[in-house]
Amino acid sequence: MPENPITIAIDGPSGSGKSSVSKQVARRLGLSYLDTGAMYRALTWWCLQQGIDLTDSQEVAEQARTFPLEIGTDPDAPTVHVGGTDVAAAIRETAVSEQVSHIATNLEVRATMRDQQRQLIADARHAGSGIVVEGRDITTVIAPDAEHRFLITASEEARLARRARELFSSDDVQAIEATHDQIVRRDAADSTVSAFFEPAPGVVGIDTSDLTFEQSVAAVLDAVHAAPAHPPVHTPDDGGTR
Ligand code: C5P
Repeated sequence: MPENPITIAIDGPSGSGKSSVSKQVARRLGLSYLDTGAMYRALTWWCLQQGIDLTDSQEVAEQARTFPLEIGTDPDAPTVHVGGTDVAAAIRETAVSEQVSHIATNLEVRATMRDQQRQLIADARHAGSGIVVEGRDITTVIAPDAEHRFLITASEEARLARRARELFSSDDVQAIEATHDQIVRRDAADSTVSAFFEPAPGVVGIDTSDLTFEQSVAAVLDAVHAAPAHPPVHTPDDGGTR
């Protein structure tokens, strides 16, 4: 194992900029990168492909345990394959974004994802200098003992405008309205199982509403460099995150 591997945990709501910022922080620091949202999206894509009723929580939980997911952790090529099919683009489609909360609010699915994500983090720490992990529950549930933890937020207005520009190359009234479900409704559903609007104790909050992309990346990097990486804290029931 490398001498001092680090985990940087980054949570935040949709459209906060956390994915692009996380990837860039990983590149700059030479770390691996794990997009946990892609795992929930891939399971959603798989269940839709298999014609599984997403409200059948037992069946979906079983699929979570067995579906053939392969996720890459290179920030320059964060690949997602299911059963050998490249689903990186398909999992971003509206059909998946609209349904993913059904999967993400299934607590048995979350337990399986937690174990898989902790394993990926452990593997990256063994193999390299560490990993940036982004999602909704990384700072609180998956890696509360990460050396660095951030919550990246932005106002609802800024998040809607950003996602509308990504999806429709416009932030006019129509585009904002069409984006509403993917930001506001989805975050409301997701926040029933994870707390990602307010930083938990010890988590550094970064509001990117008025920051450029580069300024947002710099805010994370500055905080990483300024804070001494605190030693991991183990709790008796943490399931062995290391
Ligand atoms: O980050 P992204 O928008 O791609 O995440 C897709 C979905 O995956 C979220 O809307 C949420 O339902 C789920 N998710 C989660 N916990 C995480 C990451 C994502 O529940 N750690």
